[in-house]
Amino acid sequence: MAKTLRVLSVASEAFPLAKTGGLGDVVGALPAALLREGVVVRTMLPGYPAVMAALASASAVHVYDSLFGGPARLLAGQAGGLDLFALDAPHLFARTGGPYDHADNALRFAAFSRAAADVGKGIVAEFVPDVVHAHDWQTGLVPAYLHYDGGPRPATVITVHNLAFQGRFDGLTLDTIGLPWHAWGIDGVEYYGAIGYLKAGLALADRITTVSPTYAAEISTPEGGMGLDGLLRHRASVLSGILNGIDDAVWNPATDRHLAARFEAGHRAARVANRVALRARMGLDATPEAPLFGVVSRLTWQKGMDLVLAELAELMDGGAQLAVLGSGDAGLEAAFVDAARRHPGRVAMHVGYDEGLAHLIQGGADAIVVPSRFEPCGLTQMCALRYGALPVVAHVGGLADTVVDANDAAVASGVATGVQFFPVTGEQFAFAIRRTLSLWQDPARWRRLQARAMATDVSWQHSAQQYARVYRESMANR
Ligand code: ADP
Repeated sequence: MAKTLRVLSVASEAFPLAKTGGLGDVVGALPAALLREGVVVRTMLPGYPAVMAALASASAVHVYDSLFGGPARLLAGQAGGLDLFALDAPHLFARTGGPYDHADNALRFAAFSRAAADVGKGIVAEFVPDVVHAHDWQTGLVPAYLHYDGGPRPATVITVHNLAFQGRFDGLTLDTIGLPWHAWGIDGVEYYGAIGYLKAGLALADRITTVSPTYAAEISTPEGGMGLDGLLRHRASVLSGILNGIDDAVWNPATDRHLAARFEAGHRAARVANRVALRARMGLDATPEAPLFGVVSRLTWQKGMDLVLAELAELMDGGAQLAVLGSGDAGLEAAFVDAARRHPGRVAMHVGYDEGLAHLIQGGADAIVVPSRFEPCGLTQMCALRYGALPVVAHVGGLADTVVDANDAAVASGVATGVQFFPVTGEQFAFAIRRTLSLWQDPARWRRLQARAMATDVSWQHSAQQYARVYRESMANR
């Protein structure tokens, strides 16, 4: 048995304490999965009001008289099923609003990263980590502080959950964030004439991961690299893609209380009851012979939601129904509401975020469409696989890595789990819809695809093994 590793996971969100997206899910789920691999994780979060409330009785393990403009304390305790450190710095984090709705984000997350680097260097004797794992731009300075401090340090790993968010700040001086002048430069924190937090992490961490192998390749190209591809190519030998998993206790069709009827892979007949319930709940006609497509998504350009609207006729002409749950871009919301008005009983739109309805759509729809223009990993298609709703996805990022396209060869050899299309255009999406409708015409074949989809391993176990390996290698390469 390998030696137990201690990892400090540093992030701006962790489910269930703070979450705005997939980052929070991953940071919240990894510790339990890693424990089974002999890795002990402490998670460090900013002391937002919700985190402080959950840690009401925690003890202070370090006190800063002044940290970037005000007193601060480091608290240790447990909350939300996580072993936590929280940075209680009221001048930075005791605020209402979302975690990123603030003009002084550069200072807030520099202070947070400084404190995380201090924990990395052993400021808290009871937990001295072997590895510090940073997530996204908010913690990109952690590897930088540890690098420029000099002296003994833990190994560092940074994970990119979405390269679109980079934390590039103009008008900030190195002095303000406590870095030495020689940190300025192409090998340091300088990024197109400003300070780049994610860039700093990518330049200085011992290892880099991102959330799928295909996204790792895409972000290393000029088309997908969003200005950072040159650096990522330079660091290719330490970059790897590790797929996310989904929480298989929350997303389990055999125990899911949001469903009208629970079901297992071998007994999918109960899906019919969910389809009936979904139609009733969303006001769709009770037409058993119509294939039912679902969407559960943020309504944004990234997610290709405009393509669903543009190719709606393809679904309508094919006799299908469409159930949409989502919120986001106001223009897209209005356009889906309008589509539902124009096709009553055949298109239904629920504007908002609704966990229960998301589960019912996964358990009742025949297919789930995810036509993303880019998708670092994507969770919706993994939920769809687990629930036997065949994913119809763009061949990008994690969508490419988790779905096996139902081409003739894949269907014949029994490995297909959904439908993929590329490039991400209306024409190709329309073609994918026609292919899906044609697959659906053959119930026996459709059932085989469903069974195979539901057998896909979407758990965290395999990913946790890969993270554990990266941690061990990062210590060896340091
Ligand atoms: P992203 O993090 O980019 O939004 P992911 O596919 O990685 O996309 O994760 C999104 C998660 O949020 C999925 O589990 C999806 O089911 C869920 N989700 C998205 N929109 C809604 C909504 N309107 N209501 C309920 N759940 C939603």
